[in-house]
Amino acid sequence: MNKKVVILGAGESGTGAALLAKTKGYHVFVSDSAQIKEKFKTELDKIQVEWEEGSHTWDKVLSADLIIKSPGIPDTAPIIEASITKAIPVISEIEFAGRFSDAKMICITGSNGKTTTTSLLYHIFKQAGKNVGVAGNIGASLARQVATVEHDYYIVELSSFQLDNMYDFKADIAILLNITPDHLDRYEYKMGNYIDAKFRIIQNQTPKDHFIYWVDDAIISKQVEQREIIAQCNPFSLEYPSYTTADQTNIKVDNGSFIVKREHLKLLGTHNLLNAMAATTAAQLSGLTVEQIEQGMESFEGVEHRLEYVTTIDQITYINDSKATNVDSCYYALQAMHKPTVLILGGKDKGNNYDEISQLVKDKCVGLVFMGIDNSKLQSYFKDFGIPISDTCSIEDAVKAAKALAPKDSIVLLSPCCASFDLFSSYENRGELFKQTINKL
Ligand code: ADP
Repeated sequence: MNKKVVILGAGESGTGAALLAKTKGYHVFVSDSAQIKEKFKTELDKIQVEWEEGSHTWDKVLSADLIIKSPGIPDTAPIIEASITKAIPVISEIEFAGRFSDAKMICITGSNGKTTTTSLLYHIFKQAGKNVGVAGNIGASLARQVATVEHDYYIVELSSFQLDNMYDFKADIAILLNITPDHLDRYEYKMGNYIDAKFRIIQNQTPKDHFIYWVDDAIISKQVEQREIIAQCNPFSLEYPSYTTADQTNIKVDNGSFIVKREHLKLLGTHNLLNAMAATTAAQLSGLTVEQIEQGMESFEGVEHRLEYVTTIDQITYINDSKATNVDSCYYALQAMHKPTVLILGGKDKGNNYDEISQLVKDKCVGLVFMGIDNSKLQSYFKDFGIPISDTCSIEDAVKAAKALAPKDSIVLLSPCCASFDLFSSYENRGELFKQTINKL
């Protein structure tokens, strides 16, 4: 009899997993406690996979031989706890897909910079003419691609939630960008648990594989000292004097060193230089030539909602960094600003501590615009900074207020430090509306 796979969550990753499981001859059932998007229902019907929405039928789920769960479902969800009690293996879609692919896996994790680094690396490979797919949170799921197309390489963005349910999967090249506190609610508020999740990126690696990491990150460097690392280590750093000059960065890898010229980077800011160092190291270790890497870097335009240039009106430049949903990413955004800046921030606070950006706000900001349903925490933190403040609770008012506060030859930066869910449906929605509102000015 065919093995039974139950897939919990029917988004792109769940539907891709259903397609792959079906292709491989499993008996497949898809269950989503919320409503499933029409396009996925149609697809599941077409491939004759049974599905349910709105709730889970426990008996059916718990009769599975294998459960593939969406990264959005925590291990503490009752259905997952029951599956674990019944000793049913619960894995992620990436883990499942990896079992059916011989492609080289280049995997990227970190608290910030995953999507940027993944997109840059994919672009470099694509421009170099490589047969490459991109997966993780971007585009088609890994499972869908493994089921439908052959690739030689996959560039895979991995969140800690995806890593949580990965066991046998191996990254040929693992990139760990940085570790700062995030999502601690999913890790019993223990930083150690979150760090362990991130370090799963190197599990199962062999001496032939590579581990690229930012050595200046205090947490990462301490962990690297304490853990047994089997793969070849390729740290990158801005700190070693021989590495960086004003216009170029020298990236050292095991088989030599490699120079990235700053003029080849359209990405703004130090954090993006770090992302570029990680990506170029991986590209070079994969055998791409310096010319190929340079060409890819030169033609990379950046990623929407991440320090995205919007427009310049009346000598005021508008930048959309709506993806900055934590204080750390706003820190890097402010660091990249080289003109007086009006910062728009606020939204759904995730237990933020603004100490990290306070000096940069003092040094760079000529105005602050709070945009949220409850701005009281921002008010009390920033009120004595001596910087003009506007309190708003809509994107229209925030943009108007920012424009009014911005002098000639300055920047208006949306880098909110917060989640968007008080006023918007997502950070993408917040960024879109920001751009639309500016374009109506
Ligand atoms: P992720 O996919 O990890 O959420 P993104 O590439 O989408 O990361 O970027 C998210 C935010 O983090 C952006 O606002 C960006 O400015 C900031 N950021 C990008 N790279 C880094 C980095 N290496 N270190 C710190 N912040 C970063």
